[in-house]
Amino acid sequence: MKKITVNSLSYSTVKQFTEGCTHQAFLDKVDRCPKIGTSAAALMGSGFHSVSESYYRALLLGHKLDADVLFRVFEARWNLANQDEIIFGAKHTQESIFNQAKQLIELLLEAEKPKEILAIEKPVQYQLTDDLKVIGKADLIFRDSQGRLVVSDVKTSATAYSDSDLYNTTEQVYTYGLFFSEPVRLKVQLFIKTKTPRYEEIELNADDVNFSDWKDKFIQTKRGLEHNVRYKVNSWKCKTCGFSYICKQQCNDTIQRKAA
Ligand code: SF4
Repeated sequence: MKKITVNSLSYSTVKQFTEGCTHQAFLDKVDRCPKIGTSAAALMGSGFHSVSESYYRALLLGHKLDADVLFRVFEARWNLANQDEIIFGAKHTQESIFNQAKQLIELLLEAEKPKEILAIEKPVQYQLTDDLKVIGKADLIFRDSQGRLVVSDVKTSATAYSDSDLYNTTEQVYTYGLFFSEPVRLKVQLFIKTKTPRYEEIELNADDVNFSDWKDKFIQTKRGLEHNVRYKVNSWKCKTCGFSYICKQQCNDTIQRKAA
């Protein structure tokens, strides 16, 4: 087995490793296997993320993009995916998702604009321990009307946030907040994809996160990856996992070996 050394970690890898299937994290981040299949919901999320990024980048330059242009950004991102491999849930079609995207774009255009945008997709990097760096990208950094620094993340969600969704997002944005040397406000801009879509701006409380527990998650993930702590967690998430073709193949190989 090839020895690996983990020098840097993002919050998303830590979350994937500590709360999901570690086999998936290895296939993704260590083995670098290609993904086959993308869930329509994930594609909707990344498409809308591209929309908000373009919108705020244009605002930073003093321009305001209209709904048509923003929808073309969404479509362009959607079309990057292999159309034959998009996995739709029971309730959605491409048409229903595109309509939802248009409604979310309207909500984005109606939302209050940040006072003074400082950065979009700001790379964040700092040393957590002697041998581990934290890396990430903060969606939006701006100053509010009182001059305070705000770190904000743009999210889409099928439903209003549960306590656990809120905690996970707080932990993620907290990770970016630690990069800055001045006090920051943490925020999530939540686009909820209910029948009538809603927009909520939620203030996140950094005190909800225990620094020592948060740090342990990064250290445990580093150790787990370096010591090949690989196990499968079969769950409903397997349905939209881009690596399920490998999992099935490995199972078939094992069955054939046992039968031989
Ligand atoms: S298909 Fe399921 S068990 Fe296999 S890697 Fe994906 S999430 Fe893990």
